[in-house]
Amino acid sequence: MGERGLNILVAGGAGFIGSHLIDALLADGARVTCLDNLMTGRQANLDHLRRVSHFTFLEADLVDPLPRLPRFDRIFNLACAASPPHYQANPVHTMMTSVLGTNRLLERARADGARFLQASTSEVYGDPDVHPQQESYWGNVNPTGPRACYDEGKRAAESLVFDFERGHGTDVRVARIFNTYGPRMRADDGRVVSNVICQALAGADITIYGDGRQTRSFCYVSDLVAGLMRLMARDTLPGGPVNLGNPSELTIADLVTRVIHLTGTTSRVVKRPLPVDDPRRRKPDITRARDLLGWSPAVALGEGLEATIAWFANEVVPDGAIRME
Ligand code: NAD
Ligand code: UDP
Repeated sequence: MGERGLNILVAGGAGFIGSHLIDALLADGARVTCLDNLMTGRQANLDHLRRVSHFTFLEADLVDPLPRLPRFDRIFNLACAASPPHYQANPVHTMMTSVLGTNRLLERARADGARFLQASTSEVYGDPDVHPQQESYWGNVNPTGPRACYDEGKRAAESLVFDFERGHGTDVRVARIFNTYGPRMRADDGRVVSNVICQALAGADITIYGDGRQTRSFCYVSDLVAGLMRLMARDTLPGGPVNLGNPSELTIADLVTRVIHLTGTTSRVVKRPLPVDDPRRRKPDITRARDLLGWSPAVALGEGLEATIAWFANEVVPDGAIRME
């Protein structure tokens, strides 16, 4: 990919996606600094890098002024809790992470002449009226509801990114990431894939929120990381955001059936109320990613779920309790 010898900052690198991205960047020969406040990220995700000389970890919160940092060639901003229960636990901090934090990192990219990649989200489309979602769709977001701290924070961050591009000529990229899953998700993450797998492995009730007919499109983490690397590595790119996700759409009820089959669990399925503002459907149009980056996902859902189940099987202790750390 050509990242050899580059100095790269990954903000949010102790998290689920960030830690896999760091592994891939180091494998490519980059020097990587991870900045993370360990709010939802975990040291355990980076433990295997403790003796890697090209890797540095800094515990810091992007809402605060940045610590002393070296000059970077590339900055990935993945910092922000991504699971609804976690980002809603301290909504003001979530919004400030996206606005103040992204602004701090963009200032840094501007000063360093670094290329900047923002991890945005399919949540900028809200509960979409257009299906599948193309980058040109402006979205249908409730600006005052409980998801707004995340959705509107990410929308504000995108706005900052493109203002730096227009105003300062900063070299920027925006990835609109759709639902991603895989090893290193937290057992207490609260998202559907981790919940359902952990419940199935523990023999606990499997929770479907609402009637289960809402849809999502799940991308395996190695595919997503490959897309982020390509988006960052491309020297010239026409402006604007790029959707990264797997276009294979399925209902939540179908996802649950797949997990029950793969785990052989005897768990019951129980219905719980649908959270406020829960999007009814979501599926990326990835034409832009295919055309600009030559990227499309390679891991089928069954294969990705098997790998994720195998990983979680090591996190669930025999009495059914979830081992957290
Ligand atoms: P995650 O919660 O595992 O990772 C986020 C990381 O950011 C964590 O390590 C957390 O400790 C850190 N962080 C949060 N606030 C911070 C702050 N103020 N200062 C420093 N560090 C902070 O989530 P993830 O699933 O790995 O998501 C990574 C990024 O990708 C996020 O920006 C998220 O919005 C985006 N994204 C993820 C998905 C998905 O399905 N996982 C979908 C769309 C977008
Ligand atoms: N969901 C569910 N059971 C769970 C957790 C989530 O049915 O235990 C539903 C949730 O209401 C949503 C979908 O699964 O409709 C995806 O939820 P997730 O939090 O994983 O992602 P997001 O809503 O952010 O796309």
